[in-house]
Amino acid sequence: MRRTVSRSLGSALLWGLPTLAGDRPNLLVVYSDDHAQAAVGCYDSKLCETPHIDALAARGTRFTRSFVTNSICGPARAVFLTGLHSHANGQTTNSAGLREDLPQLGELLQAAGYQTGVIGKWHLPRKPRGFDHWSLARGSFYTTSFETAQGTQPEVGHSTDLITDQAIEWMGEQVGGEQPFFLWVNYHASHRVWDPSPEHLGLYRDGDLPEPATLFDDYAGRTPAAEATQMRIARDLFPAYDLKLPVTGEGILDDAAINRRKGMTAEHRALWDSFYGPENEAFLEAKLAGDDLVRWKYQRYIKDYLRSVAGIDAGLGRILASLAERGLSESTIVVYTSDQGFFLGEHGWYDKRWMYEPAFATPLVVAGPGITTGEVDDLVQNLDLAPTLLDLAGANVPAHMQGVSLGQLLAGEAVEGWRDAVYYEYHQRDSGRISHTVAPHYGVRTDRYKLLYVPDHDQWELYDLAQDPHEIQNLAGNSEYAGLQRMLTARLAELRERYEVSE
Ligand code: CA
Repeated sequence: MRRTVSRSLGSALLWGLPTLAGDRPNLLVVYSDDHAQAAVGCYDSKLCETPHIDALAARGTRFTRSFVTNSICGPARAVFLTGLHSHANGQTTNSAGLREDLPQLGELLQAAGYQTGVIGKWHLPRKPRGFDHWSLARGSFYTTSFETAQGTQPEVGHSTDLITDQAIEWMGEQVGGEQPFFLWVNYHASHRVWDPSPEHLGLYRDGDLPEPATLFDDYAGRTPAAEATQMRIARDLFPAYDLKLPVTGEGILDDAAINRRKGMTAEHRALWDSFYGPENEAFLEAKLAGDDLVRWKYQRYIKDYLRSVAGIDAGLGRILASLAERGLSESTIVVYTSDQGFFLGEHGWYDKRWMYEPAFATPLVVAGPGITTGEVDDLVQNLDLAPTLLDLAGANVPAHMQGVSLGQLLAGEAVEGWRDAVYYEYHQRDSGRISHTVAPHYGVRTDRYKLLYVPDHDQWELYDLAQDPHEIQNLAGNSEYAGLQRMLTARLAELRERYEVSE
């Protein structure tokens, strides 16, 4: 496999010293929500820079082929906690339950001598296990309720800022302690409805951002499930709820309820109106239609999304600065990743769920003591994070985990026989006012090809990602590619057998 790792001699030497086993690193995982690689500067700078994530990547390892196993919020967190695919850990959808008999990452790190904390979004049905401290963020972005062991308290302030404050405070309490810490910080604000923090509302007010090549995709040649998906920017975003337009008559989604729903104070609302008001007036006057209307919606959506991302990047910057001030930078391994990627207008969509690249891929950057500097092109998944963190902590990785430690890759070592394919599965069938109707599917991706299967339609899709990076030419059933399709079908069956998929 192609590799572009540049070994850092100093880091490699440090890696080999017993200090990491005897004096183990703190582990800080900064985990965002729905953060696509296309909105991380060190992956793709067409839309934005993310100075703090980019700086972390510059002094650490960036995984260029980092994927999830099931592109949706709750299941991704269950994979993180168990090192098991969704079908194996039981959390296949946002509502189904995580198996109770499995050891979870926090418990395993506690057993290895770590103080553990989780702060921010949780999105799993049961309370945290294995965390000495937990503070779970719920509710709106401008007034966030935090649930702790002591109860639930609403706090006025933007979710990103409050989560950052709590993370810095908790890490400060660990300074001077005898145990290393593991902190899992879960930002929420890059998730729908993309309500930016007040200090980032002014970004991107002038000029348009570039559109993706497939904003006006017609879904030709693909499964009917792609066309049926309710994630279209053109059709499925709610005017007030998502697009911040002054629309009434949509009940809880309309403008009359917006202050309450978003938890805005009068000050928030005044600031909000000062930015969106004039733009909304111009929009209503222009009476846009057709492609022009889609383009306007895309710009409103992508700018709010990137404003929210800017807040998270700034939060990471504050967290890293606090580590440096406390002298913890040299003893703390920092991971930046997201629960999954997101469609930023590709295929005309917002949201995630599909195995197509924008939602399937997710950022993964790791930096700190013993971590080499460079890029790794090997295929990795969120499945690998639990084994990796246990490995970095000097703890045993339980044999039942399906992920593999990235420790050697992070040390700059090539790994013979590293996996040449990853498995994906999506299970959720949703309904109701805000639903997405993505059909369950599963598939395999190698370094170049992707094959996916949609059982509802008994339909296959096959893409050559080198020739067709936007995944618009479905080669399944094309006789020229029959051999390739047979090979990938067999590879997919092997992976399903290895991971013990029973359905
Ligand atoms: Ca998510």
